[in-house]
Amino acid sequence: MTEIASYHAHIYYSPATRPIAEGLREQIAARFSVQLGRWHDRPVGPHATSMYQVAFAAELFPTLVPWLMMHRQGLTVLVHPNSGEPYNDHLHNALWLGAVLPITADQLPRAEAPSAIVPNTQGAAERL
Ligand code: ZN
Repeated sequence: MTEIASYHAHIYYSPATRPIAEGLREQIAARFSVQLGRWHDRPVGPHATSMYQVAFAAELFPTLVPWLMMHRQGLTVLVHPNSGEPYNDHLHNALWLGAVLPITADQLPRAEAPSAIVPNTQGAAERL
C-alpha cells in the first residue's frame, strides 16, 4: 500500500451554513491538535465550494474522523489521504461525509510531496 503521510478534512459550507462551519471549527480546535487552514469563501484549487482545510497526522484518523461523522451537522466533509499523489488522493482514494461535491480535477498534480503538518490548535480533549 502507498504510504499515507497525513490526511486533510475539507469542511465545506455555503453562506447559509457558514455559522455552523464556524462552530465546528471552534470545536475541532478545542479538541484536536491539527493544522487549521484559512477560510476560503471562494473556490480555491480543486475545491469548487467554499471550505476550510483541517490537516492532521495519520494517528488522529481514528478519533477525528468518527468525531466529524457525528458532529458535522449536515455539512459536507471530504477526507482525503496525502500519499504524494494528489489527483488519486482526491478523486479515487477519498471518502465523503454527506453529499459528494464537484472537484476540479485539472487543478490536481499526479505527484507532489505531501506538506508537513504543523499543528496550530491547542486541542487536548481527545488527543490520543
Ligand atoms: Zn486537501
